[in-house]
Amino acid sequence: MNRDSLYLGGRWVSANSGATIAVENPATEEIIAHVPAGNAEDVERAVTAATAAFDDWSRTPMAERGAILGKLHEALASRADEIARTVGLELGTPLKVAKAVQAGLPLAVLRGYADLAANPAAEETIGHSLIAREPVGVVGAITPWNYPLHQVVAKVAAALAAGCTVVLKPSELTPLVAYLLLDAADEAGLPDGVLNLVTGTGAEVGAAIAGHPGVDMVSFTGSTATGRAVSHAAADRIARVSLELGGKSANIILADADLTKAVKVGVGNAFLNSGQTCTAWTRMLVHRDLYDSAVSLAADAAAGYTTGDPFDAGTRMGPLVSAAQRERVQGFISRASARMVAGDSGVPRKGYFVAPTVFADVDPGSELAQEEIFGPVLSIIPFDDDEDAVRIANNSRYGLAGGVWGTPDRALAVARRLRTGAVDVNGASFNPVAPFGGYKQSGIGRELGVHGLAEFQQTKAIQR
Ligand code: NDP
Repeated sequence: MNRDSLYLGGRWVSANSGATIAVENPATEEIIAHVPAGNAEDVERAVTAATAAFDDWSRTPMAERGAILGKLHEALASRADEIARTVGLELGTPLKVAKAVQAGLPLAVLRGYADLAANPAAEETIGHSLIAREPVGVVGAITPWNYPLHQVVAKVAAALAAGCTVVLKPSELTPLVAYLLLDAADEAGLPDGVLNLVTGTGAEVGAAIAGHPGVDMVSFTGSTATGRAVSHAAADRIARVSLELGGKSANIILADADLTKAVKVGVGNAFLNSGQTCTAWTRMLVHRDLYDSAVSLAADAAAGYTTGDPFDAGTRMGPLVSAAQRERVQGFISRASARMVAGDSGVPRKGYFVAPTVFADVDPGSELAQEEIFGPVLSIIPFDDDEDAVRIANNSRYGLAGGVWGTPDRALAVARRLRTGAVDVNGASFNPVAPFGGYKQSGIGRELGVHGLAEFQQTKAIQR
């Protein structure tokens, strides 16, 4: 499955240096592919191609861009099985989840942006001013490994719909699925230079994109620490930055909640994708009256997670993405001083597996409750009343997502008080066209739907 080229200016080309990056299957520890290790000169070529393409693409009517995105969607949808398989191989997501989420979600998002662009909203007027929405320019998109196609498509589809051109750098850990998007773009006839791919490391390619004077906007998803570095690099030239960063979301189970459902859905949310999900509800906050039952339900639920080969139909949890990630997660587990009620059980010897782990009686100020672990580790914390629950939930430097369970009005009242960009009441499902993003150190800006489109637009007032 070797992928030996970059995609620049509408062509597959060799990278500047002959260096490559090995891509590993985290379930088997085998090297499954090599991709080019791009460098700053490759970024230069990509930005030049994106800049050259910008004038035509930005002036292409939005409805026409929508039609082209529709073709891109068609070409990508024909690769849905290959997308799921590829993410299963390079990330270790169990195949069933990979089909539904790793392939299904980006396809839904791309379809949504194709439709949105194909039917553009009427231009706004305020008094004698026409309010024009114009593309920001050349966008640098830097993406992580945990939802490797979704995070790419959330940026690329919105940016292209808005009329921007893009230089994309996927994570060095999971670059393969991005190639499927570029294959689809090539097949769909996306104009040359509108979407460019430079694989490589964050330190080399990511930093070159973030600091490039020709990049008008950097759209980044990943850790808060790297987001900060990207932000600093862009600040020198006052480039626009949008950041989707970490989370430590609370799942609040109020005294009048349907406990069994709340715990089952809550554990599933925390363990989705081996817990490598920025919105994961990693803190389960439970009213004291329900607390002991919740702990035993959560421990039982965790014990039901079969860990193993992502391609085995019985597997509910795959490995973590890398040896480094497993080490990081195991460090949090071994330092924890809370009561372990699930975990430490057998996992495959080969591959970067961590057993589904649940801690009870977690101190809300402890490392376990404050740090983004990014592994299958759930912390359970008791609370006394709704006020106490809100206080504990908001005691976080993050503010990405959350859940509240209880009678609808009471749960909604609590949801409104959480300092987070999203909250699901009583297990309401993810909405791929609702705005997605964080308060506090979880980020700046919003992705998805019309709010995600607006991130890639400038607003111009024309007085007539
Ligand atoms: P990073 O934030 O470092 O990686 C995200 C992206 O940024 C990757 O494409 C990476 O490149 C790139 N990058 C790295 N350094 C730079 C830089 N200096 N300038 C520009 N881009 C850069 O995440 P990690 O993979 O290191 O994961 C570490 C931790 O981050 C995880 O344990 C987790 O807690 C958190 N995380 C959170 C995510 C979220 O969605 N909230 C997603 C991923 C991680 P490359 O990987 O190719 O080197």
